[in-house]
Amino acid sequence: MCCAPDATVPLEDLPGEGYDVTAYWWGKNIWPGEEERRRFEGLTSLLLLRSVPLVRETGDGTEWEELAPPLADEPEGGKRCELCFRLQLEAAARAAALREIPFLCTTLTISPHKDVHLINSIGAEMAERHGLTWVHRIFRRQGGFLRSVKISRELGLYRQSWCGCEYSLRSRGRSKRASGDNPSGLPENTLHPGVKEPGEMPGEPQG
Ligand code: SF4
Repeated sequence: MCCAPDATVPLEDLPGEGYDVTAYWWGKNIWPGEEERRRFEGLTSLLLLRSVPLVRETGDGTEWEELAPPLADEPEGGKRCELCFRLQLEAAARAAALREIPFLCTTLTISPHKDVHLINSIGAEMAERHGLTWVHRIFRRQGGFLRSVKISRELGLYRQSWCGCEYSLRSRGRSKRASGDNPSGLPENTLHPGVKEPGEMPGEPQG
């Protein structure tokens, strides 16, 4: 699960279909740490409300830290995002297999900005690799995304304005600063000094 707003609809639909859901949090892509904590706390408050258990990844995120920087200039939806999906879905599959949880799914397909076919394809690959069954869903369909916005508002959930990584934050910051706004509330110098100046990235960041 990537954040509380994105988890709202899956946490209604999957139990409604008879699945006994366990949440998994990876979070290595979320930057800075303060934001990761904020999203994690938002998710835990929702899980508490829905009585859903949580597994939090304990790995150190080295793979992400090593493999993502060369892809800093990739546009959203490009190779960095594919890497991001691969790392988190593989880690989720590993965690599920370790706990003998037979099914795997993701909240990522609630976003209207993400390539849901790529996400489902990677998810199926990771599930097969770890002996699991992939639950193919596109949660944004049939009004799913709007439903997630509505539930998030009703529950007062924190809803971020950029996808998650420092690269998406920088991209968002650049477009918002051009209009005199600061989406993160973070001062500019909180951006990682090693991040290269990115090219302009199209589209809105994903939730
Ligand atoms: S933009 Fe979002 S999906 Fe893409 S790499 Fe960053 S956090 Fe991951």
